[in-house]
Amino acid sequence: EAKLAGRRRFCFFDAEIEAHFASRWQLEQDLKLALARQEFELYFQPIVDLAEAKLAGFEALLRWRRPGHGLLSPPLFLDIAERMGLINDIGAWVLKEACTCGASLPHPLRVAVNLSPTQLLKPGFALEVARIVGESKFSPRRLELEITESALFLENSATLACLKDLRRLGISVALDDFGTGFSALSHLRVFPVDRIKIDRSFVQEADKNPETASIIRAITGLARELGVRTTAEGIETEAQLRKLKSLGCDEIQGYLVSRPKPLGAFQNLEELAVGGSRPAKTA
Ligand code: C2E
Ligand code: MG
Ligand code: MG
Ligand code: MG
Repeated sequence: EAKLAGRRRFCFFDAEIEAHFASRWQLEQDLKLALARQEFELYFQPIVDLAEAKLAGFEALLRWRRPGHGLLSPPLFLDIAERMGLINDIGAWVLKEACTCGASLPHPLRVAVNLSPTQLLKPGFALEVARIVGESKFSPRRLELEITESALFLENSATLACLKDLRRLGISVALDDFGTGFSALSHLRVFPVDRIKIDRSFVQEADKNPETASIIRAITGLARELGVRTTAEGIETEAQLRKLKSLGCDEIQGYLVSRPKPLGAFQNLEELAVGGSRPAKTA
């Protein structure tokens, strides 16, 4: 009887594993065609400057409208796209679309675009960015590229040269998810960045955990000394907003101001500025 149950259980797992690989295979097939089928979209999330209490720009966030599966976020498909060698083509589409959208925004609002580490290693990447930005008629001074520490971990002279080329074009560079990696602070010594984005995991604890608050204060203090701006990611509550402001953050981003949405869904850009001045009203 035990043997029978064991076998039945084995069959059950077998079917499960088979289904897993089938759905994974289907995802890969769909992903290969997604660009040509124009299934990618960009959502935009406002970034608010705290000192000026106004909208500073938007971060562009990739979405895949996969037929039969709804709207997918990057964690569900970007690693696979990377492994399939699709990331450079998808990344080029994102840049082009973000710059086109950016050109429709009032000056001096900026647009931030996330890069995968692979893109920075592509020979001629900075030139390709220059071409895309030029064709869209968007000012490179209003474009920011967000890279994660994993890109810097490759501590590669090619990555460094690419970042320098991008900055020479007038494009700014932000270090995303700051604090989640290992040697975060030492990177600032080597890599030229204009901004640090303090990761949501810190923001969530900032008003509850004094140690986390101290770390954030150290980061913003160091950043200021180095002439680097700071943005706090994932602000969801008024308490977090007040805390991050008191800890010296320059900008905030998060559901409190707005969830990411299609650019057209932002009717009134002035109203978003009010979102940033909210603490002034409640204080
Ligand atoms: P990220 O660059 O750190 O972007 C912030 C993520 O946090 C976004 O998730 C955003 O929707 C989410 N978020 C923003 N505010 C809040 C908040 O208040 N609370 C919570 N819980 N979440 C918030 P999303 O859009 O799913 O993107 C996930 C990651 O995928 C991004 O993290 C970025 O690393 C990557 N990504 C997004 N778009 C692209 C792209 O075009 N290219 C590349 N290479 N990566 C991208
Ligand atoms: Mg980002
Ligand atoms: Mg981030
Ligand atoms: Mg993050």
